[in-house]
Amino acid sequence: MLDSKYKDNFNNIALSTQGQLSHHARESCGLFGIYGDDQAVQKTYFGLHSLQHRGQESAGIASSDGQVIQCYKGMGMVRRVFRSGSDILEKLSNPIAIGHVRYSTSGASKAVNSQPLLAEYSRGQVALAHNGNLINAALLRDEYQSYGSIFKSTSDTEVIIHLLAKPNHLAKHDPLAHVLNHLQGSYCILFLFADRIEAARDPFGIRPLCIGQTEKGHYVIASESCAFDTIGTKFIREVEPGEIVTLDKTGLSSRFFVKPGNVTPAHCIFEHIYFAKQNSTIFGENIHEFRKKLGRQLAIEHPADADVVIPVPDSGTSAAIGYAEQSKIPFDMGMVRSHYVGRTFISPDQKLRELEVKLKLAIVEQVVGGKRIVVVDDSIVRGTTTRGKIRALRQAGAKEIHMRVSCPPIRFPCYYGVDFPTKEELLANERSLKQIKEFLEVDSIGYMSLKGLLNCANLPADHYCTACWTGKYRIPVDVAVTKFAMESD
Ligand code: SF4
Repeated sequence: MLDSKYKDNFNNIALSTQGQLSHHARESCGLFGIYGDDQAVQKTYFGLHSLQHRGQESAGIASSDGQVIQCYKGMGMVRRVFRSGSDILEKLSNPIAIGHVRYSTSGASKAVNSQPLLAEYSRGQVALAHNGNLINAALLRDEYQSYGSIFKSTSDTEVIIHLLAKPNHLAKHDPLAHVLNHLQGSYCILFLFADRIEAARDPFGIRPLCIGQTEKGHYVIASESCAFDTIGTKFIREVEPGEIVTLDKTGLSSRFFVKPGNVTPAHCIFEHIYFAKQNSTIFGENIHEFRKKLGRQLAIEHPADADVVIPVPDSGTSAAIGYAEQSKIPFDMGMVRSHYVGRTFISPDQKLRELEVKLKLAIVEQVVGGKRIVVVDDSIVRGTTTRGKIRALRQAGAKEIHMRVSCPPIRFPCYYGVDFPTKEELLANERSLKQIKEFLEVDSIGYMSLKGLLNCANLPADHYCTACWTGKYRIPVDVAVTKFAMESD
């Protein structure tokens, strides 16, 4: 597959994700990069495994020997793309590497949109990996197409390459900083040039991006610090909002494309609630500890008279532990998640959905039978899958079910890199709490208040984005951006 050093394989297996099911919103992507390590590609592979929760639609690695970049990517999870037993990693082996796992929030799930995107322009090769969502990508793309530019993908990321290649941008003192100032929305981007990695984070710091260092002193960049734990790397700090960090033969250097302190951050607090892994530290805080705080706060705001607290695994587990601690109600595992099912690609038929819920989440009758239970989940998006779980708990003999949710009701879409369904499909859209309780078929429902949520966080309240609960978007969205905005081009 990699017989040519310039080869950028766009030919891997393309799987449709139509009919894929989840009760949750989906994260956009995970990034990993490492400079100067003999095992850079192997470490990138392990790093991507750790970040798999941030995207399962496609995976890819681009690497450089200092002069030439090569890239391998495909549809599916990391282990599928880099099939065990194959020699892909060996052929890619170079001391500079970046990697990407994707869930599509802009552009359909297809091979041509998988990343890193590799391109050749007047200054040589560049490979790009992006996490986030550019809200002005369609406008920029229209502009470039009107001048005759040809795009080969339908993702928002490709427009960055066109901006980078534009001659009058290249003439600027710092072309990369100049280009980044054209982008609106959320972005963490890794640029792999033949001799270096440049990592950039948007001025609002919406998505996380962390810096680590290996025992041998090599620098590593990753969306979440959990990727460092896997490869024995020490967390140093986060890339600051509006910062560009360069990894090259001189080590690590930094510059800002927006004056530091000029913009109040808008970190996505949903990263804390649901997306990020429990062993990660992002926005200055460990995820597991934060979620436990949420659970304790939830128990204060919405106590329940019950026999047992059970989580919806895995993302509800830490909050359920906190709820149990605060309420003094015993914690137990009433549902067990199967990690081996993966995606079933079934048609969206209600009966089959219920079967899939059962397949993915088994009920422990001995824990819930005849009991009054508190069920803790991190969030509810559409509500149909949650209702399926509630019905399964009833069938297993639960006497009373008290639903507790560790974030407020989600009422608005996200334009910054999270694939929520449309406003109309959101359970809490134009439904009262009483209607939500009836829909879910529970005995009581309690959502965390926004104030309570923000009180649990370390940073000041105005340092977080809360738009999916409040509808107040820190970066104005003039035209509603849809995932498929660029598909009809
Ligand atoms: S709208 Fe919600 S999910 Fe999107 S960035 Fe803001 S807090 Fe995160």
